Amino acid sequence: MSPQPRTGILGIAPYVGGESKVVGQNRTVQLSFNEGAFGVPPGARAAYTALAGELHRYPDGGAHELRRAIGARFGLDPERIVCGAGSDDLIYQLCLAYGGPGTELMMSRHGFSVYEIAGAYAGCRVIKTPERQLTADVDAMLAAVSPATRLVFLANPNNPTGSMLPQPEVERLRAGLPPDVLLVLDAAYAEYVDRPDFNPGTRLVDAGDNTVMTRTFSKIFGLGGLRLGWCYAPPGIVDVLNRVRSPFNVSLAAQAAGIAALAEPGWIEAGRAHNVQYRGWLSAELQRAGIRVWPSEGNFILADFGTPEQAGAAHAALRMRGVMVRAMGGYGLPQCLRITIGTAEECALAAEILAEFMAHQPAHA
Ligand SMILES: *Cc1c(COP(=O)(O)O)cnc(C)c1O
Repeated sequence: MSPQPRTGILGIAPYVGGESKVVGQNRTVQLSFNEGAFGVPPGARAAYTALAGELHRYPDGGAHELRRAIGARFGLDPERIVCGAGSDDLIYQLCLAYGGPGTELMMSRHGFSVYEIAGAYAGCRVIKTPERQLTADVDAMLAAVSPATRLVFLANPNNPTGSMLPQPEVERLRAGLPPDVLLVLDAAYAEYVDRPDFNPGTRLVDAGDNTVMTRTFSKIFGLGGLRLGWCYAPPGIVDVLNRVRSPFNVSLAAQAAGIAALAEPGWIEAGRAHNVQYRGWLSAELQRAGIRVWPSEGNFILADFGTPEQAGAAHAALRMRGVMVRAMGGYGLPQCLRITIGTAEECALAAEILAEFMAHQPAHA
């Protein structure tokens, strides 16, 4: 008899990532991971390089300087910040600490798939609630609360749909949940949102002891390869995370590069402005070609081709020209492709290929 994992572990489907290489193509355009369009912030690159001679040193397990920099940048108390090896790390720790066998984790139907993996790993029953127009439905979530509900995850804006709940709706969700249910607001795309009715979660974290906001350096800050995320949480939850997390969960390089990225002049503003411009442009181009595009507040769009066959053919057309986008079958949206907003040239190439593809479809001939 060989070693066996706990009950339920083998029922977990591995995370499906995007493609990053196309065989036989030497030039590829990667629009499959929602990485920032501008690459690595120059200051972060310099900080990373300068560290090479220090790599025998353990990092600061408390990430003090990094937390101070995050606090200063976003106007938050560093004592209420916990850093992780990507926000995925913190999502796992929250599920393991607050979930477990006999509990339920709630997420919306097309919510971020890591919640399902981390929840199942912790032993939670994962409940997925119906959406309206690919947007989390607060009434459906509140109706699905049971005595076993311990965790509710909401990505706002959501990946892969791009949809966003305005602050009054998030507040209504919090107000309707029992106080002992932990609400996790995943604001991985917060820096891209330019709507006045959006709050990334800080207000609800401050308003009580039962809401956590998670953030990442993997998107607008361009440091996905280093694995760096953080959360802003009430003191009781900070205390729990600091007990259970791996003591040196954030590497020396990630801490140094993160601090430098936060200090990069105009980085967020430039990334957001580029994204608003090209998200609008690419959406309009695809719609002009006859493709439905769901509204998005993130650095990606969800293109809806109507049928899985059509989406698959469009995917193949893009891949043939070296452009990688994300297939959505794993999310139950096989008729869709998720396309990251890249540079101007990358967006233009994707638009050109898809327009050509649509021009050759019988319905549009
Ligand atoms: C990309 C993404 C994250 C970030 O994960 P990291 O582990 O920080 O790289 C978190 N949540 C959502 C919804 C995402 O799309």
